[in-house]
Amino acid sequence: MALDLSGLNPDQRAAVLTTEGPLLVLAGAGSGKTRVITHRIVYLLERGVPPGNIVALSFTNKAADEMRERLQKMTDKALASSLVLGTFHSVGAAMMREQPDHFGVPKKFGILDQGDVYGIVRAVLRELGIHGQGADRRFDLGAIVQRISLWKNDFVSPTDAQGLYFETEYDEAAAAVYGPYEERLRALGAVDFDDLIVRIATTLEENTEARAYWQDKFRYLMVDEYQDTNRAQLEVVRRLAGERENVCVVGDDDQAIYGWRGAKVANILGFDMYFKRARTIKLEQNYRSYAPICTCANAVIARNTSRHEKQLVPQRRGGDKVTVVVAPDGDQEARWIGRTIFREIRESGTKPEDIAVLYRSAKQCDAIEALLQEHGLAYRILGGQAFYDKKQVKDALAYLKVMIAPKDDLATRRALDVPSRGVGLKTIEHLSEFARHRNLSLAEAIHRSDEIADIPSRAAAGLRSFSAAIKRGQAHFYASGSAVAPLQGLLEGVGLREYVLKEAGSEAAGTARWDGVVWLLEALGRFEQRGRAKGQVRYNDFFQVMNANKDKDKNEGDDEDGARGQITLSTLHSAKGLEWPLVLLIGCEEGVMPHKRVSAPRISDAIAGDIEEERRLFYVGITRARDRLFITRAATRLERGAEVPRKPSRFLDDLPETEIRVHDIARDERLGHDNIASMAEAFLANLAKGL
Ligand code: ATP
Ligand code: MG
Repeated sequence: MALDLSGLNPDQRAAVLTTEGPLLVLAGAGSGKTRVITHRIVYLLERGVPPGNIVALSFTNKAADEMRERLQKMTDKALASSLVLGTFHSVGAAMMREQPDHFGVPKKFGILDQGDVYGIVRAVLRELGIHGQGADRRFDLGAIVQRISLWKNDFVSPTDAQGLYFETEYDEAAAAVYGPYEERLRALGAVDFDDLIVRIATTLEENTEARAYWQDKFRYLMVDEYQDTNRAQLEVVRRLAGERENVCVVGDDDQAIYGWRGAKVANILGFDMYFKRARTIKLEQNYRSYAPICTCANAVIARNTSRHEKQLVPQRRGGDKVTVVVAPDGDQEARWIGRTIFREIRESGTKPEDIAVLYRSAKQCDAIEALLQEHGLAYRILGGQAFYDKKQVKDALAYLKVMIAPKDDLATRRALDVPSRGVGLKTIEHLSEFARHRNLSLAEAIHRSDEIADIPSRAAAGLRSFSAAIKRGQAHFYASGSAVAPLQGLLEGVGLREYVLKEAGSEAAGTARWDGVVWLLEALGRFEQRGRAKGQVRYNDFFQVMNANKDKDKNEGDDEDGARGQITLSTLHSAKGLEWPLVLLIGCEEGVMPHKRVSAPRISDAIAGDIEEERRLFYVGITRARDRLFITRAATRLERGAEVPRKPSRFLDDLPETEIRVHDIARDERLGHDNIASMAEAFLANLAKGL
């Protein structure tokens, strides 16, 4: 199959054919940057470059999967599947797996997810006796985790961090936690997401053997969404590129939306500073969206001052105006969305996978989820948290593992921490030591903790009751042959339910959280039933399904089923790079988009919100739409039981009047379907009376 270059414009073609030396493709949304990467890969393969020498890095697993799918259609399937294609995180993990010694990790290292990281930080804080100020004297863990992550990605070591000037008590706490946190990771033989990148960068710098090996292996490097790389990722790219510098990066500074996580736009705008021989190609045409959508996007992003001036030139003429929908309140906004999607699918024949609902914050999707369920419509959620990714569900899952797969030390650690039972860092170290010497699992060491000296009495009591509860659960499990009731008993017995309810802060929130655990128990029950029908219940399969996301990066939470037949609900961050014929961009109000972090930053925000970044996020949202775009907002929203007025997002003011039409639900739908039906009824009734 020869590569067809006719589907590319001259600039795109030049980018595809420039295979040697550093190349930057800087261009607006929908201009075919990702398409350049896929064509470039095919071109390299056809020139005989072995697939193992080609690395393509994309921002999310979803984007990588999509790229692979496209490649499989364009070239030999086997070739396409043996490419190195993934995220920085997944490729980093693969490199570590191949050379654990070089990267300083055990052969079977664990990768901690966000929940694990929070658990460790919480435990270290407790251990160090650090409390926040204010009424509940508790820290926002997220702020500390974020700060440590930013340091790691900037190559600031725990010792360096100690010497920094602290602006907030969060920084101070983070600096104190950082060192013990890293020690715990080492003790667990685990790495966090940041290590998957930072370790690669430092090892390639320090270890000449590893550097030579990987530079020789990864001869052609491509990076999509380059505007959102951080310092550590830049170093990975530079150190892999070596002197050969066969590196092609594509991106758009107007879509830089991860500054809050340490991404540096300077990486892309200063590309030729890092790669002196760099050639830059700009793409001008937009192939994705109809003209009104492009015009709106141009008008919005033009308001940003710090940017590289460029315009989307629409190649698709015609198309509907952008619709701005105004709902009287949040509830009616959600209902309008549910109704509109339902009609699109059931009456207009739009395919569910062609529709996306996009929002600024993950929690906005709850209301939409509920309505789609009501209408019986299938959907998938990107970004935010899938059910089984929530903390309380993972905590419960950890107990299940300790009960039936007690060799899983990470699970044991997790269970030991919630609820807190006075077991500190030192005790864990004693236990790990004891286990290591005798080749035991951590759980076994806990069962034998009486044999260990030096454990403070409070911790010893905690360990004893933990051990007894687990043993009771196990006995119950072996006797009954099902894990559901024993797990439920175990969770109640150790006080997890009370803990979840208390942590939630309110009764409603607590019940909602505990629902996640109930969901897990039900899923487990169904799983056992299916297994029994087949003659065997393999719990490992259950863990695998539940962990499906664990090895993936933290940018998404998609399931394995793919998109077919499902509407997409996504945060704007996770929607980057993707496109849909019909897009609904919801909740466009001040305080939502732009986020309230911008208007009223909290002290715990490691990086204060940035209005230009919010605007770029809005721009990303608009430019996801191919054919039709609806932007919705509510005039009031329910907050703590009262309807509070909401100001329209300032970004709406920038949409050119000629390109939009406004649909005011309260005004325009008074004569909607239902009303017409009841008016007709009344009319007929009157008619009948008159006769
Ligand atoms: P984003 O900035 O959102 O990531 P992008 O620049 O990566 O966008 P692509 O996703 O590669 O853009 O392309 C956008 C759409 O335009 C895709 O549907 C792609 O197939 C189509 N497209 C790109 N180039 C061409 C072309 N030369 N002719 C026709 N269609 C094209
Ligand atoms: Mg792209």
